[in-house]
Amino acid sequence: MASILARDDLDSLFAALHGRGYRIVGPTVRDGAIVHAELASAADLPAGRTDEQAPARYRLAERGDGALFGYAVGPHSWKAELLPPRVRLWQAGRDLETTDAEAEAVPTAFLGVRPCELAAIAIQDRVFLGGRYQDADYAARRAQAFVVAVDCGDPSDLCFCTSVGGGPGAEDGFDLALTELLEPTHRFLVRAGSSAGEQVLADLPVHDAAEADVDAAAAVVAGAARAMEGRFDSTGVHDLLLRNLESPRWDEVAERCLSCGNCTLACPTCFCTHVVDVSSLDGATAERSRVWDTCFSLQYAEMHGGNTRPTTRSRYRQWLTHKLATWEDQFGSLGCVGCGRCIAWCPVGIDIREEVAAIRAEEETHANA
Ligand code: SF4
Ligand code: SF4
Repeated sequence: MASILARDDLDSLFAALHGRGYRIVGPTVRDGAIVHAELASAADLPAGRTDEQAPARYRLAERGDGALFGYAVGPHSWKAELLPPRVRLWQAGRDLETTDAEAEAVPTAFLGVRPCELAAIAIQDRVFLGGRYQDADYAARRAQAFVVAVDCGDPSDLCFCTSVGGGPGAEDGFDLALTELLEPTHRFLVRAGSSAGEQVLADLPVHDAAEADVDAAAAVVAGAARAMEGRFDSTGVHDLLLRNLESPRWDEVAERCLSCGNCTLACPTCFCTHVVDVSSLDGATAERSRVWDTCFSLQYAEMHGGNTRPTTRSRYRQWLTHKLATWEDQFGSLGCVGCGRCIAWCPVGIDIREEVAAIRAEEETHANA
């Protein structure tokens, strides 16, 4: 059962969520990009804006309509909410008594979560909650999250979720899912995906969706899926990469890669961290924090006796083969959801799809020689 919420009534969703004590984080325009920030009302959404993306390129553009979610994905992902860049683990005073930090989780509504981002959250759930050990900080933040997904109607040129098992329509993992419809009137098809979502939906001034509304929403998702057809050949990618660990392509990509780690920071599934210890200037307190790290940093693979990945070649190979091969062995799925962020935000425009295609072509050339 789906409902219709008029665009002019979208603030009722803000009121229903604020009334339940949620802070609302969603898309807004800042510094020439659509980023995630705390929103007060629908007026903060990026009305009429879209993002044009290409390798090493991201620009905002006007759409010529008032769409509120007419963009693909920006540089931020929900990882920053669930796995913040810096989390304090413990603090100690001169008496050497340590105090474990409590998760500073507050009820937060994630507004505008794309289906690829639902997939990324599901991946991080498996990493932090699905194994033998659960991460308490992640668990606390996750338990306080209310997810409002928005189907993707306008993927960027770099999106390829359909090639890695996803799609532009939200299917599960949300409390509410919206599909934005612009014609003949600006409105949202709304579906609840949980009892919490049903309760919020009950507070909104909605009416039942007509068959034409449901068809229009399906057409939005189908159009987005069509736009992404054939963008990445992931056939047998797990074995392909592991068969080609000594491919000369790793040397070629290492010539271009700066080892900057931007791709891992922008990626919604990358989760590497390390710990830092800091003491106050007067020496009264010390604390240990967990901070984001990247497998592209030289120090990341530094251990007693040496460095296991001393070259850019070895670090890029580690990243790509983890994303598209060994992640599957470790967690049962690919580590890539096809959002394209690592391509747009790579300063030299390295494209994960091109690297796989090059290795595939090289292998085929050898097989035919
Ligand atoms: S590897 Fe790239 S395309 Fe895949 S999820 Fe990460 S940022 Fe997105
Ligand atoms: S692939 Fe691009 S973004 Fe990633 S480390 Fe290399 S240069 Fe940086």
